[in-house]
Amino acid sequence: MLEFSDCTILHGTELEPYECKRFIVEQDTIRAIELGQPCDRLEKGTLVLMPALYNSHTHIGDSCLPDGATGMTLEQGFFRPEGYKYRELAKRSREEHLSHITAHLRYMARTGTIAHLDFREQGVYGSQLLRQASEAVGVRSVILGQFNDLPFTAEQLTENRAELSEAALQELEAMLAIADGFSESTINDLTDTAWQQIRQRTEQHHKLRAIHCLENAGYREVSLAIAGRGDLERALDVYDPHLIIHATVANDEEIAMLAKHQCNVALNPRANANLGLPLPPIAALLESGTNLLLGTDNGLLNSPNLWAELDFTYKVAKSQFGDALRPDPTAILKMVTSNIRPVLGGDAYGALAVGLPADFTVLNFHQGHLRASQNILASVVTRVTPEDVWMTIRQGKVLYRDPRASSLED
Ligand SMILES: [Zn+2]
Repeated sequence: MLEFSDCTILHGTELEPYECKRFIVEQDTIRAIELGQPCDRLEKGTLVLMPALYNSHTHIGDSCLPDGATGMTLEQGFFRPEGYKYRELAKRSREEHLSHITAHLRYMARTGTIAHLDFREQGVYGSQLLRQASEAVGVRSVILGQFNDLPFTAEQLTENRAELSEAALQELEAMLAIADGFSESTINDLTDTAWQQIRQRTEQHHKLRAIHCLENAGYREVSLAIAGRGDLERALDVYDPHLIIHATVANDEEIAMLAKHQCNVALNPRANANLGLPLPPIAALLESGTNLLLGTDNGLLNSPNLWAELDFTYKVAKSQFGDALRPDPTAILKMVTSNIRPVLGGDAYGALAVGLPADFTVLNFHQGHLRASQNILASVVTRVTPEDVWMTIRQGKVLYRDPRASSLED
């Protein structure tokens, strides 16, 4: 059993701050929450209990190469087959690679994150490797597998008719036996026929479909040249993805399309900025009602530290709104907590309430730089750093505990 008393809680899917007299976890479930008064500011130090974080876009496989693509373009660093990332990953031994992935999953737990949606390269092998690391650390890896090699030639992609070969279909089936779903770099990497085949297989196996769209204008232009329509429109039609990544250069028409289809869209503005790309239209997307999530993207581009992503996203959004009044910091914090539910369902709630899974992060607001917060939500979004994470708990199990925290377990 875990018990906290006289703390502060961000309660329910709306993350409403309340004084909390008692918070009790039994096994993997929140058994009791005794709420006090609503409190949006602090008069003295407290522990803040909040839903643990979900990182909706990672490539943890390349976390073995921190900052390795510095000075390279998106194409030079990240595109198949000759991009730096793919050349380097192919050189790693299983043992060495596993140790890097495991270390980064531990860092996620240390920074308050209990789950991530990973766009895993290297086919069946890549999915197996991450599954092994995830089981060892206890952070949930939602694995979205990718073919080891592109199954089509440039000519086949331009013709946009070829089906997946029997060998590619076998690889897909073997991946889906391990992974939680499928992903690819861009819609332009496969033919429309192949996307429809993948859609059918993933539906059969009740697996997730994800895709990167509109990371730069090139994605749209290549798709227009091949299929006569942009990559987002094409993805929605032939692939029906559960999750779209980027939307960095989404125009008004494309934002309306995302909202109309009730899409789940993961943004990663730090990664976009780090590649010299435009910043995503965060304010316009928030206004559109699209369900937004946040990710940290490639391990080689960014640390998987969502506190940094929250801070950056909030401030860029304020600048885009242009009035310093919007958005409410809660809207940004929901992007790493309760907005996950429409994507994953199951036992992923991203919220704290009685009867829900005990998935939460404890922040140490006793410290001098946090204890006088005049807006708890804003301080969580802009001021908390990994050093302020006191505990990270998934399904009642402690994944991380600050060495200064005394044992609260019976
Ligand atoms: Zn990605």
